[in-house]
Amino acid sequence: MIYNHILVRYGELALKGKNRKSFIQILKNNVEKKLNDYPNIKVKARRDHMYILLNGEDYEAILEKCKDIFGIQSFSLAMKIENDQEKIKEAALEALRLESGETFKVTCKRPNKDFPIGSQDMNQILGGHLLSHTDGWTVDVHQPDVELRVEIRHDATYITSKKIQGKGGLPVGTTGKTLLLLSGGIDSPVAGYLTMNRGVEIEAIHFHSPPFTSERAKQKVEDLARVLTKYGGDVKLHLVPFTEIQQKIFQEAPENYGMTIMRRLMMRISEMVAKQRDILSITTGENLGQVASQTMESMHTINEVTNYPIIRPLVAMDKIDIIDISKKIGAYEISIRPYEDCCTIFVPKSPKTKPRRDKVNEFERPIDFSMDIEKALNNMETVTFSATDEEKEDEFEDLL
Ligand code: ATP
Ligand code: MG
Repeated sequence: MIYNHILVRYGELALKGKNRKSFIQILKNNVEKKLNDYPNIKVKARRDHMYILLNGEDYEAILEKCKDIFGIQSFSLAMKIENDQEKIKEAALEALRLESGETFKVTCKRPNKDFPIGSQDMNQILGGHLLSHTDGWTVDVHQPDVELRVEIRHDATYITSKKIQGKGGLPVGTTGKTLLLLSGGIDSPVAGYLTMNRGVEIEAIHFHSPPFTSERAKQKVEDLARVLTKYGGDVKLHLVPFTEIQQKIFQEAPENYGMTIMRRLMMRISEMVAKQRDILSITTGENLGQVASQTMESMHTINEVTNYPIIRPLVAMDKIDIIDISKKIGAYEISIRPYEDCCTIFVPKSPKTKPRRDKVNEFERPIDFSMDIEKALNNMETVTFSATDEEKEDEFEDLL
């Protein structure tokens, strides 16, 4: 027998009482979706663990994919055996023969109390069997080269080799959806990833200003949205044409408040899109103190235009830690590609670092943006990226 299963252990979702069932169902769907390329696998979800029947599929590749799924605490290759002492002994021996090293330890757990032999006794029985049927192996209970874990559960016994750490977190889709303001920078994709960690599904919105921002800049944001699908299934990206609004701000508002007004309009439009799509929060990559727009005063002034919850996972993080995550999730190389951002093109020479609500309202009052907003929303383009399918499909949606 060889390893024919992957045993998946749940993390935090074990704590979720009544919601447990639906959490597990969502995790199962996420696993199936992620492993869509392996038609022979089967996923079975149980109350306290999940297992993936490999049915001959390439387990190395599947193990790699399991590392990207939120809601999995740890996982291991496993052999599934009938709850029968002789069969368990036989399988343990084969499992040890697949390993290399000199010392081993058997750790037996028996959640199934109907099984007649206690876990301590099983440790002894299996240890003895392994010692007498192999050469060169000795037992070391403190620092073994190999730890064989035997879990006697109700449905069957699983022998697992090393435990691989999963991502933890909550399965994406269990705690609602957020609208992520996605720029082409380093921060916002990381903010999206961290929000997903708490089970939140992502839709992204990006403001671009063609022809001042190029097709390449758009491509960059699309590539970043695609990175996020790796961790959370489908990601819709809404691309909002922002050129006319930016030109109007530039022409009609005091230059030093241009950035603040632009951000407020992004926020207003984002709220409208969120509302249309039944999304209850907005997420940004804002990080205190990084740039002019990210002062406390600036956040206070920009935040005035919406009472939707704004999730800012990075607000108190150090840049160096943000960059680490960006690299780890595979976004960094994309984020550092040179590009023009709508914010860098119309950037005022000296943006107000401490904008005030009363001032910005005074400056905005005479400018009527309503038609421009409507037009931007009408021309919004929506692209869906799917974890399973590298191809993108274009779809246009009428919002108003
Ligand atoms: P990032 O690295 O994410 O670009 P940043 O450090 O450049 O962030 P800002 O430019 O002040 O900071 O942007 C703050 C946040 O505003 C971004 O993290 C993002 O959530 C949002 N944002 C900025 N520009 C855009 C845009 N063109 N489209 C959508 N959201 C944007
Ligand atoms: Mg930026």
